[in-house]
Amino acid sequence: MPELPEVETVRARLAPLLTGRRFERVEITDPRLVRPFEPAEVAAELEGERVAAVDRRGKYLIVRFESGRALLVHLRMTGSLRHTSGEPAGDPHRRALVRLDDGSDLAYRDVRRFGTWLLLEPGELEPYLGARVGEEPFDALFTAARLGERLARRRAPIKTALLDQRTLAGLGNIYVDEALWRARIHPLRPAESLDRTELRRLHKAVRAALEAGLARQGSTLRDYALPDGGSGSMQDEFKVYGREGEPCDRCGAALAKTRVAGRGTWFCSSCQPAQASAAAARSGQAASTSSRAPSRSRRQSSV
Ligand SMILES: [Zn+2]
Repeated sequence: MPELPEVETVRARLAPLLTGRRFERVEITDPRLVRPFEPAEVAAELEGERVAAVDRRGKYLIVRFESGRALLVHLRMTGSLRHTSGEPAGDPHRRALVRLDDGSDLAYRDVRRFGTWLLLEPGELEPYLGARVGEEPFDALFTAARLGERLARRRAPIKTALLDQRTLAGLGNIYVDEALWRARIHPLRPAESLDRTELRRLHKAVRAALEAGLARQGSTLRDYALPDGGSGSMQDEFKVYGREGEPCDRCGAALAKTRVAGRGTWFCSSCQPAQASAAAARSGQAASTSSRAPSRSRRQSSV
């Protein structure tokens, strides 16, 4: 599934192609894409809208229109957007096609058909996202202390907590494994047990893992593709994801695979130990009980 680096890469490529353009003709051929709404009705509503900006929140792509409406696109497993000029080639997996007012086309293809398009009226976007998506990892408000607050009193494995989009926006199976490896934290550690040092390491590691993905235009595993049909190359740089049995880049031990939250999970059992030390567990406890302290600035300065 495309995660933050993949969706951000798509956004950056599409923004200059779509901004200022009008949706001249829209065809939605798959009812699943827009359900419970009627494809023809959504298509008719989209026609005539002019793009003001292309944004991203978490794994959502947001096409903002000058009217104040927004089209919220989620690529889910296998969705991709392709921009072409001239007649687009026939594609059995195409679910929607937008003809822009400069004669170019934006085609949406999706093999597994889990992707969604949701047209929101002015004022609906922020409440919709606010209920579903936590902070952006690169936002200045996202600090190690803030991460600690989000993880406090959560007994779920840290991997499960990080996959929850309300903890932090944009992480999925790949970048959670990569971040936990960088932070030297076992994926099954209870989220609330991380001490301050570990929270600092994890905060840094999340950004570093995502930055590595962004620098390589994301990872192309199955159907993720750039709007010009190109691929990302992050899959060649994974530290742990999909590398069971290969040597750890840091310590040389063979990487292990397990399942967490029903997802394949890769880690190094040597440098990501299953048990934190007793002292670390105790200070993790202390951090979690004080996490409701109202003074955010004090907590920030202490971390
Ligand atoms: Zn290792």
